[in-house]
Amino acid sequence: MKKLLLLFSIGVWGFTMYAQGDDIQVLLITGGHDFERNPFFDMLEGMEGLVFTEVKHPQANDYFKGDKAKPYDVILFYDMVQDINPEQKEGFKKLVESGIGLVFLHHALVSYQDWDYFQEIVGGRYHEGGEKASNYTHDVHFNAEVVDGSHPVLNGITDFELFDEIYGNVEISNKVSPLLKTDHPESMPYISWAQEPTPTTRSIYIQPGHGPQVYSLDPFQRLLKQALTWAAFK
Ligand SMILES: [Zn+2]
Repeated sequence: MKKLLLLFSIGVWGFTMYAQGDDIQVLLITGGHDFERNPFFDMLEGMEGLVFTEVKHPQANDYFKGDKAKPYDVILFYDMVQDINPEQKEGFKKLVESGIGLVFLHHALVSYQDWDYFQEIVGGRYHEGGEKASNYTHDVHFNAEVVDGSHPVLNGITDFELFDEIYGNVEISNKVSPLLKTDHPESMPYISWAQEPTPTTRSIYIQPGHGPQVYSLDPFQRLLKQALTWAAFK
């Protein structure tokens, strides 16, 4: 079924689609880092069975408080910000404990540098500066190799090639289950992983996702869709 796009205001101009009965409700958080909106939303529009509602910073962190995130099955983080207050942090912890699905895409790894809990939930840490500084390189051809083909997030996905941005020297938690790896020498070795921070909470990180070349790739679209579905326990 063709989905229709509807613009409406959630404090700021946002984006959503008409929902069908049992569609997965995705709260998409953006802000703090540019991206090419049209190809990105074209990709999301093609994901049958998922409905995306966008909220932008600085309002987005208020969705961690109270019941504001209750209508959603999963949060897709495609933001990169540092500011968050104690009340919002507390709300985020409660959401994690409540079992909401969590998918962190690309530059979301760089958010909240000074908040250890967030890094634990993402399963990795990109250091902006300092002795352990991480790094990034744009426009790189690299490979993605399936680590655990039995994982539902990788259903129908085999090894594939990408042209996108890579991150190097990133700390990866030993609690995560790697999903995809690469042998590019300047990239971090794992470029997607899953973890279950609580018995009822699923979190996924996907490193590729900078621009249209990767948005249009079938294996990438599958990976993102299946990550959202798995994290939502659907
Ligand atoms: Zn990027």
